[in-house]
Amino acid sequence: MVPYGLGLLALLLFLGLFPPTAPWSERFLTPLVALGAGGYLLWRRAFPWGLGLLFWGLGDLGWTLGDLFARERSLGALAFEFPYIFGYGAFTWAILQVPGHPPRLTLLLLPVGAFGLATLWQGDLGVDRLYTAWDTGLLLLLLPRLEPIFQKRFLGSRALWGVGFLLVFMADLTYTYLEAQGGYPTGHPVHLLWPLGYLLLALGVAAENQGSASFSTQVVALGGVFLLPATLLAEPTPWPIRILSLYAGLMGALGLLYAQHRGWRHTEEERLRWTRFLEELARLSPRVTQTLSPEAALLGALGAAQVLLPQAVGLEVRSRRGLVGARTPHILPVPLNGDAAYLYLREPLKENIPPGFLSLLGERLRQVLKQVEWGTLALTDPLTGLLNRRGLEAELPKLLALSGRYQAPVSVVMLDIDRFKRVNDTFGHPVGDEVLKRLGRILQASVRREDLAVRYGGEEFLLLLYGANRQAAKEVVERIRARFRTERVEPIPYALTLSAGIAGGEVPAGDGQLEEWILKADYALLRAKEAGRDRVTLA
Ligand code: GH3
Ligand code: MG
Ligand code: MG
Repeated sequence: MVPYGLGLLALLLFLGLFPPTAPWSERFLTPLVALGAGGYLLWRRAFPWGLGLLFWGLGDLGWTLGDLFARERSLGALAFEFPYIFGYGAFTWAILQVPGHPPRLTLLLLPVGAFGLATLWQGDLGVDRLYTAWDTGLLLLLLPRLEPIFQKRFLGSRALWGVGFLLVFMADLTYTYLEAQGGYPTGHPVHLLWPLGYLLLALGVAAENQGSASFSTQVVALGGVFLLPATLLAEPTPWPIRILSLYAGLMGALGLLYAQHRGWRHTEEERLRWTRFLEELARLSPRVTQTLSPEAALLGALGAAQVLLPQAVGLEVRSRRGLVGARTPHILPVPLNGDAAYLYLREPLKENIPPGFLSLLGERLRQVLKQVEWGTLALTDPLTGLLNRRGLEAELPKLLALSGRYQAPVSVVMLDIDRFKRVNDTFGHPVGDEVLKRLGRILQASVRREDLAVRYGGEEFLLLLYGANRQAAKEVVERIRARFRTERVEPIPYALTLSAGIAGGEVPAGDGQLEEWILKADYALLRAKEAGRDRVTLA
C-alpha cells in the first residue's frame, strides 16, 4: 500500500507543478473522473456519495457539451443544471449521515467558508450563486464531521475525503470568483482541482466504508492539500484566491500533520496499555502456596480490564461466582465459554472496544476460575467440605501472619468421635460417613472466618481458633459437643459424643510452635479418652 500511496503522491505533485492546460483536459477530464468515481462508489455501495458524484459528473458533461455547442447558460439551458442540484442534494444527504463532534480545530477552515459567502455578493453570478451558497453550507456541515480526524486514532480515510471536498470547494469558489471578475479564462489550472478532488473523495469514502485508514491514504491526503497553493498560485489567479488557497493549504497540511502525530502518539500509548493489560492477565494465576478465591480472581480480572477500559467498574460471572464491583446499566458481555459474564461500565462506551479484548479477558477468566476450582478441590476434603491436610498447610501461613500482625492468640483443638468404630461396625460405613458429614457441618458453622477447620485424620478433626485463648476455645468446643450430642443420625438409637484436647491459647512464636501445640492437643485428647471420653481436656 505504501508504494501505491507514494506513487499517487508523486503524480499529484507533478500535476500540481506542471498542470496540463490543454483544452481537452478541461473539457473531458472532470466529467469522466466524476462519472468514474461515482460509479466506483456505487459499486462499493456508498450510495449517496456515489449518486452525488454521478450527478455532478452528468452536470459537468452537460456543461462541456453546452460549451461545445456554444449554448448560453441561460434559462433555456436549465436542464443542464438539474444534475448539479441532484448532486448537491445527494452530497448533503451523505454528509448528514456521517457522525461528528463539535468543531474545534476545524474552525480554522471557517475563513474559507466566509470567503465563499463574500463571493455571493460579487457581480452577476446567475445560477452559480446557488452553488456557491450550497458549497458554503456543505463546508459548514463538513466541519464537525472532519473534527474526528483529531481524535485519538487518526482517521486517515476521512482526512482523504475531507481534502477531496476541500479541493472541489476551492475549485468551485475559484471558478465563481473568476467568472464574477470578468469571465473564466479557458484552460486555467484550477480545472485540475475538480477531478483530483473527486478522486480523493471517492478513495477516502471507499476506505472509510471499509474501515481502513492505511498509511497511503494519509500520504495522498497530504499531497492533495499541497495541490491547493500549487495550482492556484499560477497566473492568472486573482490575489484573494491565491492568499486563500495558501491559507487553506497551510491549514490543511498542518492539521493533517498534527492529527497524524496525535495518532502515532496514541498508538504508542495504546501499545503500552495492551502490554500492561496482558501482564495483569498473566499475573492472575493462583499462587502455589496460597489459595485464590473466585472473588480474588474476578477482582484481578476487573483490574486488568480497567487498564484498557478505565470506565469498567464491575465484573460478574452469573452462574456461579457472583459479582465484584458495581452493577451498572452499561453492560459488555464477556464470552466465557457458555457461561455468562458481564463487564459493567460507569458510562457508555464512546469508542470501539479494542478488538480481541473481550475474548482475551473471557478466556483468561475461564482458565483462572478453573484453576481456582481445581485448587479448592485439592485443598478440601470431599466428604465434609473442610480443609484437608494440604489445605491446612496452605492456609496456616496466612493465619500465622494475621496473628503476628495483631498479636492475637491462637488455640489448637483436636477432636475425635467416641467409639466411632462401633458405629461403622454396627450400622455400616455409609452411616459412619453421614456422622462425619454432620460433624463437619457443625464444625463449619461453629468457627469464624479467620479460623481453620481441618479433617485431620479419618475421624479426627483439628480446629485452629484465631483470637481465642484456652477459655474461649473451651467454650467453643463445649458448644460443638452439645450440638453434636443432639444430632440424630438414622438408625443410630443413641446420642453420639466426642472428646477434645485443647492446647495453645497464646500468640504463636512461629510455625514450629503451632506444630508443637497440635501434638500437645493430641496428647490432651488421648487423656480425655483415657479419663472416660465425652469430655474436654486442656493441655
Ligand atoms: P475412640 O473413642 O477411642 O476414638 O474409639 P474409636 O472407635 O472412635 O476409635 P478410633 O478413633 O481409633 O476409630 C477410627 C475409626 O474411624 C476407624 C475407621 O473405621 C473409622 N473411619 C476413619 N475414616 C472413616 C471414614 O471416612 N468413614 C467412616 N465411615 N469411617 C471412618
Ligand atoms: Mg474415635
Ligand atoms: Mg480416631
